[in-house]
Amino acid sequence: MSKKNNGMHCSFCGRSASEVDLLMPGAEGCICSDCAEHANDIANEYLNKNKSVGLTDIVLNDVPKPKDIMAYLNQYVIGQETAKRYLSVAVYNHYKRLSQQHDDDVEIEKSNIIIVGPTGTGKTLLAKSIAKLLKVPFTIVDATVLTEAGYVGEDIESLLTRLLQACDYDVKAAERGIVFIDEIDKIARKGDNPSITRDVSGEGVQQGLLKLLEGSVVNVPPQGGRKHPDQKMIPVDTKNILFICGGAFEGIERKIALRLNQHVVGYAKNSQQQKVDRERLLHYVAPQDLKSYGLIPEIIGRLPILTNLEPLDRTALLRILTEPKNAIVKQYKKMFEMDGVELSYEEDALEYVVDKAIEYQLGARGLRSIVESIMIDAMFELPTSNEKKFVVTKQYAKEQLMKANFELSKEFS
Ligand code: ADP
Repeated sequence: MSKKNNGMHCSFCGRSASEVDLLMPGAEGCICSDCAEHANDIANEYLNKNKSVGLTDIVLNDVPKPKDIMAYLNQYVIGQETAKRYLSVAVYNHYKRLSQQHDDDVEIEKSNIIIVGPTGTGKTLLAKSIAKLLKVPFTIVDATVLTEAGYVGEDIESLLTRLLQACDYDVKAAERGIVFIDEIDKIARKGDNPSITRDVSGEGVQQGLLKLLEGSVVNVPPQGGRKHPDQKMIPVDTKNILFICGGAFEGIERKIALRLNQHVVGYAKNSQQQKVDRERLLHYVAPQDLKSYGLIPEIIGRLPILTNLEPLDRTALLRILTEPKNAIVKQYKKMFEMDGVELSYEEDALEYVVDKAIEYQLGARGLRSIVESIMIDAMFELPTSNEKKFVVTKQYAKEQLMKANFELSKEFS
């Protein structure tokens, strides 16, 4: 390893030992210090790129196990144990499929998921929390913007544009990603009456979506939106992309009730076992209910894992206010702390907030706006006052809400 290695040349650039700073001999040839440095840069660039999008081969030992995924989700999502279990297993299995050797006899098929649950019970939250944990590209898209090709709206393929954007247009990485399609119920066929105009937001869109779910090579417009003839498309193979669909399926309880009623006939002697909890009909959701709701059987077949989210009761809402890692109460405490003020809520003030959310039928989404209405004056006054402590009592919360309502009623009078 020296300049004096007469007669030796760098096997990469061809320069002799006297022309370079350092020449390092290897088993078959030599490399000079310049070429070594250059090779190092190229290797680093390649490795970093692949690391950031999870392209490096997935080693199953390194990925979180279903119980780890569940524990992670528990930090952010209150309740919804069944859905969390299903998602944890599905995501782990997705990794399993990705880590499978190509020459394996048994090819693990992907199992796309559909989550049915009332609005504001945590579907998007679940998806977002999973995204934080995952090392594969992930995106959330909305099915409401989709229409059949040729109509106003976005083409189905544009769902994958967001996934491509999430991994800097690295197609190989996107092809192993996860897409959460929200509001899938909005593309259900409305009623059985054939329309005299074309079914712009119904079956045509479902047929298009089927292509993505099944796994095929689709042409994706790089900037999303609508395709146009001069645009250069990016072909993406959806075979290994995991799709998680979510929807409120408003009114599906009626279909479930109808099915269960029909079912119960003939099982009368077992009535104790067959007893159906009318409050939790969603719990019994089955693929045939999705069909009655207007999803085509082919789509249902491509979403083999069906799970549901429970409506949030009073206890769950109370926990949502205080327990998750970024709970609303924790967020306000943090904001006040930045002004040097210690904020606390009395228990009955929190219960009052929950009661109001239930009364106004706002669910978990309403908690934030109620707390915001209560805190607005304090957030305005405290930064310029000398107070170091602020306690929200039920009385204070009530007064503040009344004030907000008063403003509202004045506006409309
Ligand atoms: P949707 O089911 O309509 O997608 P989201 O997930 O967007 O509902 O929920 C709206 C908000 O309500 C969330 O941002 C979160 O603050 C709160 N939330 C809803 N469900 C839960 C839950 N199970 N645990 C914790 N927070 C929740």
